[in-house]
Amino acid sequence: MMREDVNVGRQFNNARREAMQFHPPFSAIVIGAGIVGASTAYFLAKRGVAVQLIDASAPASEATGAADGAVSVASKRPGPMMAAALSGVRLYATLAKEGVFAGAFKHRSTFIVAASDEECAVLEAHSAALATVGVRVDTLSAANLHQRFPVLSLKARLGVEVHDDGHAIGYQIVHRLLTAAQITVDRNTKVDGLAIAKGGRSVTGVSTRRGTIEADAVVIAAGTGSAEFLNAAGVLTPRKGQLLVTERAPRLNAAMPGAIMSGRYLLSKGTQKMANSTPARGLGLVIDPLVTGQFLIGGTREEFGDRQSNDIDAVSRILAEAVALVPGLASLRLLRSFSGLRTAVVDGLPLVGRMPGFDNAYIATGFEGDGICLGPVTGKSIVQLICGEAPEVDLTPFDPSRFERSGEKL
Ligand SMILES: Cc1cc2nc3c(=O)[nH]c(=O)nc-3n(C[C@H](O)[C@H](O)[C@H](O)COP(=O)(O)OP(=O)(O)OC[C@H]3O[C@@H](n4cnc5c(N)ncnc54)[C@H](O)[C@@H]3O)c2cc1C
Repeated sequence: MMREDVNVGRQFNNARREAMQFHPPFSAIVIGAGIVGASTAYFLAKRGVAVQLIDASAPASEATGAADGAVSVASKRPGPMMAAALSGVRLYATLAKEGVFAGAFKHRSTFIVAASDEECAVLEAHSAALATVGVRVDTLSAANLHQRFPVLSLKARLGVEVHDDGHAIGYQIVHRLLTAAQITVDRNTKVDGLAIAKGGRSVTGVSTRRGTIEADAVVIAAGTGSAEFLNAAGVLTPRKGQLLVTERAPRLNAAMPGAIMSGRYLLSKGTQKMANSTPARGLGLVIDPLVTGQFLIGGTREEFGDRQSNDIDAVSRILAEAVALVPGLASLRLLRSFSGLRTAVVDGLPLVGRMPGFDNAYIATGFEGDGICLGPVTGKSIVQLICGEAPEVDLTPFDPSRFERSGEKL
């Protein structure tokens, strides 16, 4: 971690800060205005905490602005990520009902379709696993699938409808959260390090080129930028994804009762155990019919490349696979291609909790391809943790101290 011992020029009253840490009003800095930081700031502000949200660039300028936006349990396996995703989807529905996400969260099913023997086998096992944790799934034979989803090509041999999933555009959600809580982001302000009190166990704020900004608690939600705050190299790694957006096609769009996820997505995404064996460039096809009448088509998982570029190999592979499943897409114009970097943790689980070694610094990052779904519920949970309450999501499996226990020094 980039730590800066600073003399803050004031007597830091530990007892007082400990009390303020758990009982608002207190002050907090959130580093990073992606969906995780914006959600954390929203839930802090709702409790009356004086919160400063600081971003090196602008709100939703990184992964949150480059995601395909599935708010979904469809690709999860039973375990801590599934439990978190179920809570995540529920919270989206609640916030939509309350008005904060109204019109920005679209309820829809995800249809996972298999086109090969390998995909059929994976899908059958996956569907059974989803059902064991109470997810509403229907298995559709080829005939049923084509009746329900007539725009699919005959390549689709088996389908599973995962009910109660949804979709949201990351940057719209960030905008809703910031507007609802009346939060103004400190833009173009890179945090260079934590300001650490004498004694080393507590932070007094953060250091920036504008000097030290003080607060009672600090939350690091900086996506791939969070790596700079860790001592351990290799715990966080960027994983690139490339996505495409088509023009509007209202009739084709209306003929799709939900998003299509190819069985290969399950193979490309990998399970938590397989996280280390993800191929250098995986392609897991998801075709999402947007409320605008357009289609969002993704995406790759790549261990190389920069976040700004798209390449013709990836774009043409995504398009070829999409058209093979939904032939009607062939006549549409491609409007836009873009890419972003997911933040992956080496063991496949995010880092959410208190920073090891500190009383009042927290981290929430490493959501790989699930941060749109998990962002709001993570923000709510980490604020509950800061305030000494039981978090909505069990954060124990995501505790950053697991790396300390395994010999790393975070
Ligand atoms: C191609 C692609 C497809 C995806 N599809 C989905 C999907 O369908 N469903 C889903 O749930 N998730 C999806 N994701 C994942 C999701 O986008 C991320 O998990 C989520 O956006 C992470 O949010 P975040 O707030 O942690 O990070 P980010 O959105 O990356 O935000 C981090 C912020 O921190 C700021 N920052 C960094 N360093 C500093 C610093 N030192 N000081 C100040 N600010 C700093 C950055 O400028 C940035 O604004 C996808 C991601 C990609 C790339």
